[in-house]
Amino acid sequence: MTALLELDRVTLGYGKIVVVHELSLRLDAGRIVSVLGPNGAGKTTTVRGVAGLLPLRGGEVRLGGKRVSGFPPHRIVAERLAYVPQGRELFADMSVRDNLRLGGFTMRRRDVPARMEELFEFFPRLRERAGQTAGSLSGGEQQMLAIARALMPRPTVLMLDEPSAGLAPRTMRHVFDIVADVARSEGAAVLIAEQNAHQALRVTDHAYVLNTGVIEASGPPAELLADDRIRAAYLGEA
Ligand code: ATP
Repeated sequence: MTALLELDRVTLGYGKIVVVHELSLRLDAGRIVSVLGPNGAGKTTTVRGVAGLLPLRGGEVRLGGKRVSGFPPHRIVAERLAYVPQGRELFADMSVRDNLRLGGFTMRRRDVPARMEELFEFFPRLRERAGQTAGSLSGGEQQMLAIARALMPRPTVLMLDEPSAGLAPRTMRHVFDIVADVARSEGAAVLIAEQNAHQALRVTDHAYVLNTGVIEASGPPAELLADDRIRAAYLGEA
């Protein structure tokens, strides 16, 4: 089966520094894959490279078998990859509904309301707050809005950078559960870059542990957690 997203020996860096070394991973439909690892491991660099925001130094990124590395970000979006950056980048003064509309700017206008309704089923809190400005939402609600906005055009691949940042554990769990729910019902593939291994592993099918730009281990959560060395070094109390 062709992977929805494939990284093939991807190398990335800044200036003279190589930050991610020949990283390979694959992501299939309906699956949730996490890239875990400490501060500075290269997680953000990896997702930015896939999104076309940073040029590749080597290797290749393929979406549904098609090579997209070298494409500018908007063309990668057109290939149905969505990216929620760390910090969410919402339009704080605009309403929840208008933020979602903007997420659907590539869609046919007449399809937007129905898609918004579908997403409100997954994110009922956003429906309740549809007229409120994004800036007035709680941290968890803002993360939900950023995710819902990215989902508007029905991406086949959704990448989330540090979705748990700044959220209380209960809220984090809730956000991850909704993401898992959407991925399974819509058959999207989700790539989560996350420092909080404990929460991410709960919903993950397969995880990669990244350290200083190199994959130290990968496998299903149970397998990683059974490895004492990996668990102690990277997975905290997970
Ligand atoms: P965090 O969770 O702290 O964001 P991360 O795993 O996402 O960590 P990256 O942000 O990808 O890590 O950073 C990896 C390395 O690249 C770090 O050493 C960082 O200092 C370096 N780096 C990141 N952005 C830049 C930049 N714009 N210019 C130079 N070096 C950078």
